Amino acid sequence: MLDVLIIGGGPAGLSSAVYAKRAGLSVTVLDKGASECQITKATEVENYLGFKSISGIDLHAQFVEHAKSQEIPIIKKSVVSVEKTEEGFKVFTKKDEFECKHLILAMGRSHKHLGVEGEDRLAGAGVSYCATCDGFFFRSKMVSVIGGGDSAVSQAIYLSAFCEKVYLIHRRDEFRAANYLVERAREKNNIEFVLNATVNEILGDNCVAGVSITQGEETRTIACDGVFGAVGEKPNMSFVIDGLNISPQGQIITDKYCRTNINGLYAVGDIRDRDVYQIITAVADGALVVEGILKE
Ligand SMILES: Cc1cc2nc3c(=O)[nH]c(=O)nc-3n(C[C@H](O)[C@H](O)[C@H](O)COP(=O)(O)OP(=O)(O)OC[C@H]3O[C@@H](n4cnc5c(N)ncnc54)[C@H](O)[C@@H]3O)c2cc1C
Repeated sequence: MLDVLIIGGGPAGLSSAVYAKRAGLSVTVLDKGASECQITKATEVENYLGFKSISGIDLHAQFVEHAKSQEIPIIKKSVVSVEKTEEGFKVFTKKDEFECKHLILAMGRSHKHLGVEGEDRLAGAGVSYCATCDGFFFRSKMVSVIGGGDSAVSQAIYLSAFCEKVYLIHRRDEFRAANYLVERAREKNNIEFVLNATVNEILGDNCVAGVSITQGEETRTIACDGVFGAVGEKPNMSFVIDGLNISPQGQIITDKYCRTNINGLYAVGDIRDRDVYQIITAVADGALVVEGILKE
């Protein structure tokens, strides 16, 4: 039986693995795949200490290399269910079963849907949630980015480098995004801020042709070829753990050592209830969670 099994191979999971291994614990990481990882969607990371500027994909590759250099197995599998046992936990993927004394949940978060007419119908036909992944298809085209947080503003900045025009549509007149990002977006002459605007519908027959918005009394259409949704995140809890304490937003509630209310079960990184969702806070959880395990 493993001392520690970690579900999720993002910054939080890999940092936890490195700390666990260094503490002499046997550890394995199960990960669905890097394309599901939030860090790989960050085009330019400029606030992770030691790296003045690095893409999320490159930074993640360095985390993986570090973990592998410590001979930590990272197995590409998606977990479908978890069962509490007397000794610890049984963790199931489609075909396999793993047993561990301590289980760390590090599955991160993923994007929320906009919930408007046309969104599902035109998904993959102009509707996207990841500028880094799909921006390439909109070179010299008009796009709209919907949202007001870091993700929305950084996607707008990224797209502005090669799109003809970017509309940044936000339902308020203030942004949740970091000030420096908003300032950087304002400096781009092909980003137009469309504020206090509600999106009614994504328009188009076989592919995106525009978005219908309402601003005050006026309803109008913004013609565009692509729509990037960036209206928030939800935790990746694709399986149920009976009795686990979660916040109204679905984030896992933990103490300062990332311990949940279930003995032997921990949560690290973006999946846990916290104020700041960043790479550095996700990585820091690795040190905290192993301290918690050693105290058990
Ligand atoms: C566009 C964008 C830009 C960003 N820019 C920055 C930035 O500049 N600086 C910064 O500090 N932060 C930035 N962030 C935030 C940062 O990426 C996250 O805070 C960080 O990646 C969280 O790490 P994590 O390990 O908790 O989750 P993630 O990085 O999301 O990793 C979770 C992992 O769990 C795996 N997983 C999920 N479910 C399962 C399952 N059932 N079974 C197995 N594996 C599973 C996924 O495949 C994934 O690999 C940005 C985020 C976005 C979206």
